[in-house]
Amino acid sequence: MPPQASLSQVGKMACRCTACHLYKRGTQTVFGEGAAPAPLMLVGEQPGNEEDLKGHPFVGPAGKVLDKALAMAGLQRSDVFMTNAVKHFKWEPRGKTRLHKKPNSKEVQACHPWLEAEVERVNPRLIIALGATAGTAVLGRVPRIGAERGKIQKGKWFEAAVLVTWHPSVILRSRTHEEREQRLKELSVDIQLALRHSRKLKPSSSPKRETPR
Ligand code: SF4
Repeated sequence: MPPQASLSQVGKMACRCTACHLYKRGTQTVFGEGAAPAPLMLVGEQPGNEEDLKGHPFVGPAGKVLDKALAMAGLQRSDVFMTNAVKHFKWEPRGKTRLHKKPNSKEVQACHPWLEAEVERVNPRLIIALGATAGTAVLGRVPRIGAERGKIQKGKWFEAAVLVTWHPSVILRSRTHEEREQRLKELSVDIQLALRHSRKLKPSSSPKRETPR
């Protein structure tokens, strides 16, 4: 990838990516969007059904939850950069619906260069990893969301600080209304903490630390 390529040029290159088999299944590459540079970058797992059809990240039901959590934290999506660890929708047919399928470690690794390219160009001071797949892609190990949620950490691959929290789709899958409200509040509190912490940090002159092999 040419180091001088802009974020939008990298996004166009990602649209032609065939580095793993997921390009055959998804409608299109869903590259990151938002402020660039930005102090905060939010990383999810992969585009969902609506994101796949529309070509934009976090525009489905989980995106609405995320918008709500951002608003509760005093932010709008235009204040941050949003992307996913994997840029194509992985799914399997279930009747007439396309059922979300979690990407495996090979697919996450195949897509990592695009995440690296985004981090290098957005240069966030802090990355919010939404859920375990994003946490793995950013930290370089599988996080335990229950135990690690809401803590400021250092990841393996990037200079930015990392905070792991709920993926909004987990909030949607809550068993009760109370659980849903509690998790939404926790997500919003985590975003607020990340915002406060990011304000104390300086942008890095070299955002990428190491490349996964
Ligand atoms: S999921 Fe990522 S690595 Fe795989 S084809 Fe899509 S853009 Fe390329």
